[in-house]
Amino acid sequence: MRQRNKPWAEDMFAKNPNLVTASPSECKGKWNEVFGNTNPIHLEVGTGKGQFIIGMAKQNPDINFVGIELSASVMVSALEKLIEENITNVRLLNENAQDLTELFNENELNQIYLNFSDPWPKNRHEKRRLMYRSFLELYETVMKPECEVHFKTDNQGLFEYALHSFSNYGMVLHEVSLDLHNSDFEENIMTEYEEKFSAKGSRIYRCIAQFR
Ligand code: SAM
Repeated sequence: MRQRNKPWAEDMFAKNPNLVTASPSECKGKWNEVFGNTNPIHLEVGTGKGQFIIGMAKQNPDINFVGIELSASVMVSALEKLIEENITNVRLLNENAQDLTELFNENELNQIYLNFSDPWPKNRHEKRRLMYRSFLELYETVMKPECEVHFKTDNQGLFEYALHSFSNYGMVLHEVSLDLHNSDFEENIMTEYEEKFSAKGSRIYRCIAQFR
């Protein structure tokens, strides 16, 4: 589990229990009750400062979004945006994605987004990459059958690694784009990192990987 060492962030999370779920393991199997509807639930892993999940929540009011973010000091910015924009179909979890199966039941989620995940370029850190086999096993467990992982990055090496990892796992690849911003994908919601790197001229890669 995460380390709870940012008291000011913890205070703000505690003051907004309708947006930051304090004991998410208690919600395992009950996320539709938490949202108060039976809408599909999409998860973003490594939500950062929240621009993507909030844009998606506004664009898709009939979908529930959960954002999981390891860093409390980063997640505070997402919370501030949620409060400012009065968004009701998002919940934030200050947790580690390694613990996904403690937070969600089997088949509880409908889609997962990985946006600009940390590349962990050294071979000895491969297991930390969010598309490493052990993470794919977790995603497959908590998602309904044949659901999709949507992945974007500016990092060519990580993208190539992800394509191999998804494919070796037996997932089917769709919509592989080597230049998202010059593609015909119109519904793109930019993340904070995406804005920063594309402004510097970096190409953005995207793919969808579907479990069989
Ligand atoms: N997705 C955001 C964006 O595109 O602007 C943030 C990208 S940032 C490079 C990666 C984020 O993932 C960081 O905020 C980091 O704390 C978070 N993260 C990394 N590993 C994680 C994990 N195992 N569980 C939850 N969050 C994680």
